[in-house]
Amino acid sequence: MDELEQIRAEVLTCRKCTLCETRHNPVFGEGNRHAPVMCIGEGPGYYEDMAGKPFVGKSGELLDKIFLACGFTRDKHVFIANIVKCRPPENRNPKADEMAACLPYLYRQIELVDPKIIILLGSTALKGLIDPNARITRLRGQWLEWQNRWVMPTYHPSALLRNPELKRDAWEDFKKVIDKYRETVDPAHYSKYH
Ligand code: SF4
Repeated sequence: MDELEQIRAEVLTCRKCTLCETRHNPVFGEGNRHAPVMCIGEGPGYYEDMAGKPFVGKSGELLDKIFLACGFTRDKHVFIANIVKCRPPENRNPKADEMAACLPYLYRQIELVDPKIIILLGSTALKGLIDPNARITRLRGQWLEWQNRWVMPTYHPSALLRNPELKRDAWEDFKKVIDKYRETVDPAHYSKYH
């Protein structure tokens, strides 16, 4: 068993925080295990919890449309993971102790997938990976550096669904990701829209 599969096996039986008591399925993450881009969300919602897969509901549909516009596909360019692997009840924000218990899995995933670019989807992802006091409204659209990787914070797709006016800003953020992808991964990368 390779190490990523080893982490998956640990996650599937994990009981390191109380979220294990209410989850149906932990959501390990999915995508190309050597993806140049890693997308990190908050945690599973209802549909993800039922399916055991990341971003499968309406947020997932929107994320797929954004990927399409960027010229990215889930299985080739991207690996998708979350700050916590189990659904918080009623989709509340994960608590600090839950994030602390779960983050070591994510750190190991990042190390193994070794992405050049990390996209943080929403406030919890930004706070969980970068700084508990960071604010998405202030940092979105700006390149950060974390462990020699480029990090772009942007809005979570569910925020875009709740407030479509944010889509324009989010697309500006993703255009920066496309530019960085061309700069660091593939100068010939094709996107129909940028
Ligand atoms: S959220 Fe993470 S730490 Fe908590 S039980 Fe699930 S896998 Fe384990």
